[in-house]
Amino acid sequence: EFVQMKKSIDALPLRNVVVDDPFWKRYVELVRGTVLPYQWDILNDRVEGAGPSCCIRNFRIAAGEIRGSFGGMVFQDSDVYKWIEAVAYSLCMCPDAKLEALADGAIDIICAAQQPDGYLNTYYIINGLEKRFTFLRDHHELYCLGHLIEAAVAYYRSTGKRKLLDAAIRFADCVCGIFGTGENQIPGYPGHEIIELALVKLYRLTGDKKYLRLAVFFIDRRGQEPLYFREETERYNRDFYWHDTYFRYQYYQAGKPVRAQTAAEGHAVRAVYLYSGMADVAAETNDEELLEVCCRLWDNITGKQMYITGAIGVGAHGESFTFDYDLPNDTVYGETCASIGLVFFAIRLFELTGDSKYTDVIERALYNGIISGISLNGTEFFYVNPLEADPEACEKDYGKRHVRPERQKWFDCACCPPNFARLVSSVGNYAYSQSADIFFVNLYIGGKIQADIDGAAVIFHVQTEYPWKDKVRISVEAKAPVGFSLAVRIPGWCEKHCLKLNGTAARYRIHRGYAYVSRVWESGDTVELTLDMPVAIVGADPRVKENVGKAAVMRGPIVYCLEQTDNGTGLHRYFIDSRTAFDSSFEPGFLGGTVVLRCRAKYLSGGGWEDGQLYRPGRSPEFEERTATWIPYYAWANRGPGEMLVWVHCRL
Ligand code: ZN
Repeated sequence: EFVQMKKSIDALPLRNVVVDDPFWKRYVELVRGTVLPYQWDILNDRVEGAGPSCCIRNFRIAAGEIRGSFGGMVFQDSDVYKWIEAVAYSLCMCPDAKLEALADGAIDIICAAQQPDGYLNTYYIINGLEKRFTFLRDHHELYCLGHLIEAAVAYYRSTGKRKLLDAAIRFADCVCGIFGTGENQIPGYPGHEIIELALVKLYRLTGDKKYLRLAVFFIDRRGQEPLYFREETERYNRDFYWHDTYFRYQYYQAGKPVRAQTAAEGHAVRAVYLYSGMADVAAETNDEELLEVCCRLWDNITGKQMYITGAIGVGAHGESFTFDYDLPNDTVYGETCASIGLVFFAIRLFELTGDSKYTDVIERALYNGIISGISLNGTEFFYVNPLEADPEACEKDYGKRHVRPERQKWFDCACCPPNFARLVSSVGNYAYSQSADIFFVNLYIGGKIQADIDGAAVIFHVQTEYPWKDKVRISVEAKAPVGFSLAVRIPGWCEKHCLKLNGTAARYRIHRGYAYVSRVWESGDTVELTLDMPVAIVGADPRVKENVGKAAVMRGPIVYCLEQTDNGTGLHRYFIDSRTAFDSSFEPGFLGGTVVLRCRAKYLSGGGWEDGQLYRPGRSPEFEERTATWIPYYAWANRGPGEMLVWVHCRL
């Protein structure tokens, strides 16, 4: 039987974290007030101009309420599950009777479709149950169950209502009986991972070890010879779309055993979901080797395959990782979901190690490549998050067709928007963590956090205008003095910080990127952290071909970009240098309230070039003096289509 490992750091119950700061409150409210109601209309096919989702309709057909055929993607069920999960988190932070009633209604519709043996997947209920579990490689039944479990656990924790949880347990029990190496069992595993981490969640809630055992089975079986997917492909005579690609079964991270995997390969979202499940299983089964594999894969991703925005999964073909240092800016895929999955992976490794290298990446992805996925008004979304865009290229270059210069209302494959909603409405779970007598501040998000430290109720009041301002104030409220460590993350980007306790320099030690202030705290004790955030001109490892001779501009955790609206066309002709000085100013009414940067820049002029000349022997280039205006990368494409550029020519 399993021995529990010393995972000692945990998220706080979400209802104990009230987010209340100018930056994140806007997003949390946007999700609750706009995104979730909008997505409910989408799921019910009531938004004009967005293709029909068919998601709720499929459940009604499967329940026999209406007649019709299955519509949408084979994994369409997961959209409503992710929506319910987001609603559950949102209700923790802010009760909303109307939203809760919508979710209860959705749960009734879902449960009405459940089969007597617990099976619940509308694609096969509608198209023939005799074919269920015969196409694990591409048909997402276990993936949908994973999302069902996540929704059910979240909704139960948030509302105390069991209906969806009971349905999830019945389906999970059904699957526990079907999968395994026993007689008449299927020795397979999902083509799209997520059920692994979901099963661990279900195990943690119920204490029932069979869910943990199934998660272990799915992880350890994966990629073992003979390859299940190869056999399934041959047995049922399936097409194999990835036959001619280098990754083949590694598209599914299933070409070799997970413990033999040394670099992130294949479909990026699947990969980081799998790795998250591996980290969970490592924690619950005391599997040091599996944790080492996770750390190795993490180091490969974040050290060699991640964009400065936290985007991962460069290849449009297969939405996949490609190879180390392959980070082109204008053909990148960088799916919003992949960065969200990276955050899932990161928080798990942080909870096992207490190391800021993981929470640093959460911050990088969250403030850049994830919130770039949604428009400022909350109704349009990016699936692909490029670091360089040109509307004409998106239209006319086949290799850039996947890049859009404007966010879309919805997608046929609508994984990203509900994923965004569930992450943002649970952002408190990433911002603060606790182990027995350590309170961790991972992200600088203002609000009021209630923690239980050794049986004492301690309230933390966090005030900040991060990421625009460099100060964070944390004050402690407690009935009686209580001893603990306050551990605040010193961000990797920050070269100079100052930590004060009640107005004078604090005594602290730095451990794994966190500053620990350990003492007996009294009510009113206040820590003030200053994180110097000058504008930084950031270079890339020279092995990244596309970024040689270029730099990106950052201030604090925020990556900046140039947009055509502010700077005209031909953004690739701008040059800055390493001594460029920037003005920064907070503009409250602009792009939701943001710090805008301006600098003098040189613009490669067309002077002396005749139309149609194209090439000529070397002659010194001519430059115009211009002012370049920089906006946060996440806020691009909110003012109509146009060029956008993150990595700019830089003369060092
Ligand atoms: Zn997605």
